[in-house]
Amino acid sequence: MSNLGAEPITHLINTHWHFDHTSGNEWLHSVGAKIIAHKNTRKHLSEIQRVEDWDYNFLPSPAGAIPSDALIANRKLKLNSASIELKPYKPAHTDGDLSVTFGEADILHVGDTYWNGIYPFIDYSTGGSIDGMIAASDANLAASTENTIIIPGHGKPVSNKSELKEFRDMLVGIRGNIAALKKAGRTLEEIVAAKPTAAYDAKWGQFVIDPPFFTKLVYEGV
Ligand SMILES: [Zn+2]
Repeated sequence: MSNLGAEPITHLINTHWHFDHTSGNEWLHSVGAKIIAHKNTRKHLSEIQRVEDWDYNFLPSPAGAIPSDALIANRKLKLNSASIELKPYKPAHTDGDLSVTFGEADILHVGDTYWNGIYPFIDYSTGGSIDGMIAASDANLAASTENTIIIPGHGKPVSNKSELKEFRDMLVGIRGNIAALKKAGRTLEEIVAAKPTAAYDAKWGQFVIDPPFFTKLVYEGV
């Protein structure tokens, strides 16, 4: 942290509740940061949380890790002369996703509504869905120009509108394939065997959310 400079860290924003985005909460709070998050993120961090698709129960976070400032509507901040805006999404990756815009720098941090170049996890246990992910992608595209620097939650860490558009088109394409097979009465096992993601796997299927797992995540929501 000292690499960032001598100034104290006064604010910490959680884009959603998952441990890989909040496990620094207690430590940063202990050195003076106020934690801001969506109201549902605070709720999920405060309670035992079962994530069915990981077959895992997350324990409540310690008191110091719980956001003290929870929002449900857009919020503007001015910090170090930067104009920052926090915007809640409709349920997408979870039901507590927030984007963060840095106005002067034209940077849009979209949390886990966007995984750059890899299939995303979708957390149905806390309100996520494939249709919510597609809607969030459309909102992210609408909030960006060709010049906007887009920061995803996972994957190659700096992105742009054209890569985001490719992600959105991948979600829509796979959703269509899986919805058609499910509508035709195929079971999940049959749909996984039919490889509905095949056209996308070489590019998107090389990380932890592999093609069968992503097929299951989309199948749950169509
Ligand atoms: Zn996440």
